[in-house]
Amino acid sequence: MNSPQTLLSIKHVEINYPSQDGNGWITAVKDLDLSLKQGEIGCLLGSSGCGKSTVLRAICGFEPVNAGEILLRDKVVSSPTIHIPPNQRRVGMVFQDFALFPHLNVLENVAFGLQHYNAPQRLALAAQWLKRVSLTDKANAYPHELSGGQQQRVALARAMAPEPDLILLDEPFSSLDIELRERLSTEMRELLKNNNITALLVTHDQFEAFAIADQVGVMAKGKVSQWDIPYELYHKPNSRYVADFIGRGVFVKGIVQADQKVKIELGELSLDQDHATQVGKEIDVLIRADDIVHDDHSPMQAEVVQKTFRGADFLYTLKLASGTQIFAFVPSHHDHAIGEKIGIHLVADHVVTF
Ligand code: ADP
Ligand code: MG
Repeated sequence: MNSPQTLLSIKHVEINYPSQDGNGWITAVKDLDLSLKQGEIGCLLGSSGCGKSTVLRAICGFEPVNAGEILLRDKVVSSPTIHIPPNQRRVGMVFQDFALFPHLNVLENVAFGLQHYNAPQRLALAAQWLKRVSLTDKANAYPHELSGGQQQRVALARAMAPEPDLILLDEPFSSLDIELRERLSTEMRELLKNNNITALLVTHDQFEAFAIADQVGVMAKGKVSQWDIPYELYHKPNSRYVADFIGRGVFVKGIVQADQKVKIELGELSLDQDHATQVGKEIDVLIRADDIVHDDHSPMQAEVVQKTFRGADFLYTLKLASGTQIFAFVPSHHDHAIGEKIGIHLVADHVVTF
């Protein structure tokens, strides 16, 4: 089998906006690089204002680029000298607020982008897509009669119906309830995968990113800090910024020992080969909430200073003897009071240091 073709590649892209005072520029996206293969789902993850929506608008063709280039199927669609118009790019977009047409019913919304077909064909195709997103019974309803989750599926069906090469999704779940988000993330991934659709979504929610995407890029100030599979982002962050952004963790001081070990307040850990540094050197070691296990019989004690009930577990904030605070997920039948000292031990198997 041939390996899948690269569908989208973004090379050294920079996008500037005029600054508010009108005298200069602000750089919204800087030296951005990423690529997606046919059928792959990518995600840009970053806090508000880091440039996520700007990237999607540039891929669609709504925003020109000031440097670098965007290629779709090896063809340059954006560069400082080339700008293929949006309707010639075969890219579908699902906007953050869904942007459904309020005066069209669900079927007509989905049929909207199918201009190349005659009327009966358009409606037949739209009906097929409604079936795929399980909304056949809502064909005649208007957008305001639907729940948020249903509106989102209509928006997705509308974007997919013209069979674009690439679908872009801007914070697709941000206006929905937490419970709905989790279920829809899984459904969305299945829908995209079953139809072999290549997609790039942007979000500020790491759980959403991890639930849907094959490849995730952590974005900060217009740049991608690390573009990787979720497992590697979590376990092998390439920078302090990524380590801080992903997961619950803190950095604690460690001293490098002989035999590739590092000593921290909680015990000794093995260092990776490539992290081997001089003995006696002080380094920062990342300790995540899932690296700490509660054990009533452990001699190592920590004081509960804060706790958050999460259903299956508590997220405890614990204070060590030195005053350093760490996090721990503890099964929720271990309901300890604030101020109480509880036994813990360390179970980190690979160590992240900076
Ligand atoms: P995100 O989607 O990650 O929240 P955006 O791409 O919307 O970020 O914005 C990135 C930066 O560009 C922000 O500083 C924002 O204020 C600025 N920006 C976005 N759109 C415009 C615009 N049309 N004109 C000027 N500045 C803009
Ligand atoms: Mg945005």
